[in-house]
Formats: sequence, C-alpha cells, structure tokens
Amino acid sequence: MAELTIIHTIQELQTLLGRNQRQGKTVGFVPTMGFLHEGHLSLVEQARQQNDIVVMSIFVNPAQFGPGEDFEAYPRDAQRDAGLAHDAGVDILFMPTPEEMYPQEGGIRILPGSQATELCGASRPGHFDGVLKVVLKLFNIVDPDRSYFGLKDAQQLAIIETFVRDFNLRTKIVRVPTVREQDGLAKSSRNVHLTEAERQEAPAIQRALQKGALLVAEGLSAGEIEQQVAEAIVTNSTGSIDYVSLLAYPALTKEIDQTNEVIVACAVKFSKTRLIDNIIIPLKG
Ligand code: AMP
Repeated sequence: MAELTIIHTIQELQTLLGRNQRQGKTVGFVPTMGFLHEGHLSLVEQARQQNDIVVMSIFVNPAQFGPGEDFEAYPRDAQRDAGLAHDAGVDILFMPTPEEMYPQEGGIRILPGSQATELCGASRPGHFDGVLKVVLKLFNIVDPDRSYFGLKDAQQLAIIETFVRDFNLRTKIVRVPTVREQDGLAKSSRNVHLTEAERQEAPAIQRALQKGALLVAEGLSAGEIEQQVAEAIVTNSTGSIDYVSLLAYPALTKEIDQTNEVIVACAVKFSKTRLIDNIIIPLKG
C-alpha cells in the first residue's frame, strides 16, 4: 500500500500538488466531513480508478451549519479516518483547521439560485451558501481534474454541477451512487446518533422511497406520492418528517413534465439526529 501523506495547511498541500501536477499527473478529489464509512470509500475507489493521485479532504465546515444545528456534535475521529483513507488508497489527506480555511470572518458569500430553495435549502437556510463557499475554496486549493460527490446528497450534487457549469470551473464532477447498509439504510456519519431502536426503524425511510418510485410508475400526482411516502415513514418509525418532496432532477423544480428523471427526497428527524435520503427515478417516454 502506498504512503498516505497527511497535510494540515493550504501552502504545504499546494506545494506538494504543484510538483505532481507539473509532472502531468491527474488529480481526483474527494471532499468529505470525515467519520468515514463505505459511502466515502466508494468515492475514493472510483477516484482511484480514474486518476494518478487521489486527494481527500476532511473538514467539518462551520459555514454550512446554521445556529442550533449539529456542528459541535458532528462525529469526528481523525485517527480512524486516516487509517481508512490509507487502506482505501488515498494519497493525500488534507485536514485543515477552521482557522486555516477561514482566517477572516465574513467576506464574500456565494448565493446559489432556485435549486437551493427546495428540500434542505428550505429547512436549512444558508446551508448551500456555506457548501459552495467551501467547495470553491477547496477546488481552488486542490485544482482537481475530477471531483467525486455522492448521490446520497443529491441536492448538493445538483447545485455543485450547476456551480461548475455557471462559473466555468475546471474540475469535472463525477456522480457516485448511494452506498447502503444491508437493510437499505443509506450509510451516513450521522447514523451513529440513532438510538438502537431508531436504527432498527430507520430502513423504513428507504422502503418508503421505493414505494414512492412505484407510485411514480403508477402515475399518481406528486402531492399524493409525497403524502403516501410521508405516511409510510411515520407509520413505520418514530421519525418525524422534515420534508418529503418530489421534484425534477437535477433541476429541482416542480415542473416534471419535460424532465428525464424525478427525485423523491426526504429528511426525517429522530431524537438526536436528522437523516436524509432520496431515490432518483427515470421517467419513460
Ligand atoms: P459528507 O462527509 O457527509 O459531507 O459526505 C462526503 C461525500 O460523500 C459527499 O459527496 C456525499 O454525498 C458522499 N456520501 C455520503 N454518504 C454516502 C453514501 N452512503 N453513499 C455514497 N456517497 C456518500
């Protein structure tokens, strides 16, 4: 297994990457918030296949957490993450401090467009501003050829694709499918905050979304589908619904007549954490 280089400062990272990039090596980039699981590692696996060098960042980005959200409680384990990143074939692990990434308060905000008004954008105001800020900084620091994002966070992925297109960013965005536990629960760093009983119930989310996909095929209206999916979740778990929403993907609009794919996405609150999941459904004809 090749060496893993762990780097904490922007300057050291750019010096190391500059050397490699001058030799014509391609860079694949996997941005994360750490507490790694197999979902993150599948991004690395794909990056490994398509690039000479794989860079992973681990940074719990304060700019994307609102007041009262779980920035402090977000799970962290740098040592375990370094071991997993090494075993998965990451070459460079970038773990900056918040002070390294944000030496000054305030500054410029990036305002995403209408794709950020639905779903998590509605219940987490400012969240995607913070995501785009850190993503742009990381893209400028790493200058990757390809960047890997999971469909688990389908809204984030759609907004980042638009960002790259609208601002002519150099990196190519690669979509990676959601990795799940055997019982269907989407892997997430936040799953550790489920109680034992909630962990047993949580696969109800994915089952409800699959039911949603069947209802799409049957041609029910968006409102009926959203209602039935929400009902299936609250009937089969103690989770409460933040949202269940059917939209065109990746446009994230309610106009689903002209789209090739729709998404049924949901956020569900449990006692100590909030989980998101989605299913993307191709439309025939
Ligand atoms: P996070 O650390 O939660 O910010 O996630 C970092 C990246 O991993 C994002 O692109 C996520 O979409 C992706 N990711 C998180 N969970 C999964 C999963 N279960 N399957 C695939 N990708 C995932």
